Amino acid sequence: MSGLASAGENILIKKEFESFKYTPFTAAKVQEIPQWKGIGRESREALEIVSRVFTFRTNNYVVNELIDWNNVPEDPIFQLTFPQKGMLSESHYDQVRTLLQKDGAKKELEDCVNQIRKTLNPHPAGQLSHNVPEFNGEPLEGVQHKYRETVLFFPSRGQTCHAYCTYCFRWPQFIGRSNYKFKARLSDQLVSYLKANKDVRDFLITGGDPMVMNYEGLRSTIEPLLTEELEHLTTVRIGTKSLAYWPYKYVSDPESDDILRLFERVVESGKHLALMAHFSHPAELKTDVVKEAIRRIRNTGAEIRMQAPMIRHVNDSAESWRKLWTEGVRLGMIPYYLFVERNTGPMEYFEVPLARAHEIFTEAYRKVSGLARTVRGPSMSAFHGKILVSGISEVAGEKVFVLKFLQGRDPEWVGRPFFASFDPKACWIDALRPAFGEERFFFED
Ligand SMILES: *Cc1c(COP(=O)(O)O)cnc(C)c1O
Ligand code: SF4
Repeated sequence: MSGLASAGENILIKKEFESFKYTPFTAAKVQEIPQWKGIGRESREALEIVSRVFTFRTNNYVVNELIDWNNVPEDPIFQLTFPQKGMLSESHYDQVRTLLQKDGAKKELEDCVNQIRKTLNPHPAGQLSHNVPEFNGEPLEGVQHKYRETVLFFPSRGQTCHAYCTYCFRWPQFIGRSNYKFKARLSDQLVSYLKANKDVRDFLITGGDPMVMNYEGLRSTIEPLLTEELEHLTTVRIGTKSLAYWPYKYVSDPESDDILRLFERVVESGKHLALMAHFSHPAELKTDVVKEAIRRIRNTGAEIRMQAPMIRHVNDSAESWRKLWTEGVRLGMIPYYLFVERNTGPMEYFEVPLARAHEIFTEAYRKVSGLARTVRGPSMSAFHGKILVSGISEVAGEKVFVLKFLQGRDPEWVGRPFFASFDPKACWIDALRPAFGEERFFFED
């Protein structure tokens, strides 16, 4: 049978997952995590200090189902959601610790934390200033339009997440420091903008995590897109980490059936619905509830594509990607992007050199079947576009990175190979020099 399962069939199967209530844990509530008392003093101190700079948030599913507490602090999911000492430089760490111990230093601590944050490149890739489109001379708030075919929308109610990834490039948003204007709902201007732009194929709803929104928030964002006047819009994408951090959203939360019916309506309208699911590690695919969530979503006719950055201490091994892609395909998902960790926030702790990332990617890629080789990477989401590290080679006697735009500010750049001098330590395009003694890359004019 193909097509849409009835909601009735979905409802029957969800019974066994009933009654899981979302319980968030923040720095103030970390003592309520039963396993917390059992872990080392250094990890507990690191959370107290580092969470002053980066926001900490996790939840009962991540804590009880995903983290192996016998393996803390090395456990990859612990590294993924709990702040670690190495996320601050030693001097920053000591400054915060000293001020925390000093009486009456509240203001001093606040200033110190703000100073530290400023040194951490809070606004990479010119997201805020360069990509906001205009309609009738007015900027469209909550919207980015960087690549011709795809418009990004940031609904204001979708700007948090079910848990926060320690390395997240959206960290300024979570500490309330983003200058970016989020839009409460899909505006008439935005819909008019889409109607007028026949080149736009994809509408990508992003966050944070839009799947923290309730049914009404999702409905009001998605339904206006289904009008016949937006025929040229072929795809609605939802970027989300909810499958990894809170799969009950699709299985047993009070509105899960309503949300799946909304997905069915998108598919029935003739559009492709793609969940761009952020999966970092195979541990996130092991629970029964995530498998059930994937099954139910796929029953609506939506497809799930997997993407994540490569993060040191979390998933910087070929085996973890091989397993992730293989398991993902088994569950019916499509491997999509492997990203390079962005140059912001606690990057020194999490970054993987491009050469190493390419090596890990290639080793994993060689060990999966063709069905998992839909994945592309390592890819940098940089100011000029998405840049693929497509190989390491020797050209005219020079060891080089072979690079290629997968997306470009100028669509003409896409697919054009270019070369950078090999540098085993470089972690981002900024650190690369053009090969063959050239002054600048072709796109830098
Ligand atoms: C990644 C990205 C997209 C989507 O690119 P695809 O290659 O189509 O997945 C769109 N806009 C921005 C700003 C992006 O970073
Ligand atoms: S789920 Fe995405 S937006 Fe949310 S904290 Fe993780 S990386 Fe950031």
